[in-house]
Amino acid sequence: MTARRLIVLACAVLLAPPPALAQRLPNELGQVMILEYHKIDRPEERWTRTPDNFRRDLERLWEKGYRLVALNDLLDGRLDLPAGTTPVVLTFDDSSPGQFRYLEKNGGLEVDPDCAVGILEAFARAHPEFGLKATFYVLPGAAPPNRLFNQPAYEGRKLQQLVARGFEIGNHTLWHANLAHYPEETVRRQLASGQEWIQRHVPAYRPRTLALPMGRYPRELDWAIRGSVNGTAYQHDAILQVSGGAAPSPFSRRFDPYHLPRIQALESELSYWLDYFDKRPDARFVSDGDPLTVTVPKGMKEAVREPLPQGLRLVERD
Ligand SMILES: [Zn+2]
Repeated sequence: MTARRLIVLACAVLLAPPPALAQRLPNELGQVMILEYHKIDRPEERWTRTPDNFRRDLERLWEKGYRLVALNDLLDGRLDLPAGTTPVVLTFDDSSPGQFRYLEKNGGLEVDPDCAVGILEAFARAHPEFGLKATFYVLPGAAPPNRLFNQPAYEGRKLQQLVARGFEIGNHTLWHANLAHYPEETVRRQLASGQEWIQRHVPAYRPRTLALPMGRYPRELDWAIRGSVNGTAYQHDAILQVSGGAAPSPFSRRFDPYHLPRIQALESELSYWLDYFDKRPDARFVSDGDPLTVTVPKGMKEAVREPLPQGLRLVERD
């Protein structure tokens, strides 16, 4: 074979398009990425993603067949996605200003098109099938600029708007307490107060998940899961770490909701994981298109969690 022909062949392989979404074999035991963002601002830094880079992240996810799902739906195993697509969860920690900012314009308020909420909404308008889901782990009692997105006059309105649009609000403690450092009473007060302060603005809302500040667990896991302080009862159905890679499928025996790993959405980490799943399509969760069935490759039945969430039926494929 001539060198020229070799090059042509190599190019053909490299440029071969990925299989069409509907042709991807379902694997609902594959892993799921829970992405973790901090600041959306300029310039790009260790804990900051620029608006343009965040837009590009969404674009890359969309093109590779990922679709946004709410974390609570992932926990409940309620995944209603087209066949061949892969769920991805977005999380935002610390309620910094660039995550959700209003601009005062013509006597009214507009969502800043360069903040995370504005970018997500614009992207969902252009690609409705991508979805509009994310969980915001807010700090209701932190010092500025991390106190509920740093526009005090609009704190309540923002939390209400998040919930009204189908976003989730999660507990991140009252003011980012390192829970490993405190006795039980302080840990519980941080969690109950975080929820209570959120509920001042959205009274019936229950934050179902907790993101641990700095990834530090309290001495006893149970302190973080459920409790009651001065009449405020909290219960967390999942606890998120700050790192650890992709999460097991919610249908896997390995899925542990109290130790959910996340992927920090830095350029290097995100690129690594997108590339990882491109190269190992078998490792990735791929939907079967039916919200009532859990389709797994033949021989993998033993790896499925028991019981499955209510109403779901297991299907083995060849
Ligand atoms: Zn944090």
